[in-house]
Amino acid sequence: MDRFGRVATDLRVSLTDRCNLRCTYCMPEEGLAWLPRQQQLTDDEVLRLVRIAVDRLGVTEVRFTGGEPLLRPGLVGIVAAAARLSPRPRLSLTTNGVGLERLAPALRDAGLDRVNVSLDTLSPERFRELTHRDRHADVLAGLRAAATAGLTPVKINTVLMRGVNDDEAPALLRFALEQGYELRFIEQMPLDGQHRWDRHTMVTAAEILASLAPFGLESDPVSRGTAPAETWLVPGWSAAGGGPARVGVIGSVTRPFCGDCDRTRLTADGQIRNCLFAREESDLRALLRGGADDAEIAQAWRVAMAGKRAGHGIDDPSFLQPARPMSAIGG
Ligand code: SAM
Ligand code: SF4
Repeated sequence: MDRFGRVATDLRVSLTDRCNLRCTYCMPEEGLAWLPRQQQLTDDEVLRLVRIAVDRLGVTEVRFTGGEPLLRPGLVGIVAAAARLSPRPRLSLTTNGVGLERLAPALRDAGLDRVNVSLDTLSPERFRELTHRDRHADVLAGLRAAATAGLTPVKINTVLMRGVNDDEAPALLRFALEQGYELRFIEQMPLDGQHRWDRHTMVTAAEILASLAPFGLESDPVSRGTAPAETWLVPGWSAAGGGPARVGVIGSVTRPFCGDCDRTRLTADGQIRNCLFAREESDLRALLRGGADDAEIAQAWRVAMAGKRAGHGIDDPSFLQPARPMSAIGG
């Protein structure tokens, strides 16, 4: 619990800072200076920290992310071990979908519950420009494989950029509705490796919703709770698993949800961050490798969370983008 009474039950685990795509809002075409291997937690170290979080700190939801988590060789084994914890946490994955076609059945068998797949365009050419890689077909195949494997509801994460793909919001929603995926738009945040984010070119939640006006979205009677996405019902469409179809908008910048945040973050090199935008980290790797016992590690984690700030402060004149980009924190 932090000093504002928020309880962190949702753990985001970054399994690698590396990636096989180069989304322009995330990292430069040449890539970034990757973490040296010896600084990266081993599979056993990751699992020990996840176990401590579940056993001692009340974490009920674990999401594996990165960088690109499908690049982590031990991913299936990590998911399987996390699924054997008691009480069993809900397990999900955020991925760019490249390679998911092959891995989806094994991940499902290991105990993964759901996936979020990032997709910003329906055009293979645009995808190549946006990610600097020609892998659009792999992502679409990954989405289909996830649905077939039952990693549902399959959600799609989309970041719109002005003059790049902001004309695609209705087409992306129609695609998601037809295929039975749940689409969520994410406002672009100042977390790119290039430090090029500009509030004035960011496509806002209000603009996204305006472009979806033809769908006649209706307010969602289901409470948002601690979820970052505000959701709307799409009249005339039903979700793949039954019930009304929904679309979500994550207005991280213009409609911040910090007051309800229930997240704690573990980086691939064993640092705890109490916020995506935190400027400080707490080094659990040093504790782990220095022989600390579970109680000591849990206590350091509690202290790290207690100091969480009330909000991300992007609008404060004093706001500074964190030194680490999204891909190294774990999105
Ligand atoms: N590689 C995986 C993927 O792309 O889904 C997982 C990591 S990625 C950092 C997680 C999510 O963060 C993706 O949906 C991506 O679109 C989003 N993202 C990356 N940079 C962002 C930024 N500057 N603002 C908003 N979302 C961003
Ligand atoms: Fe890789 Fe995900 Fe960043 Fe795209 S958003 S470059 S897929 S980590």
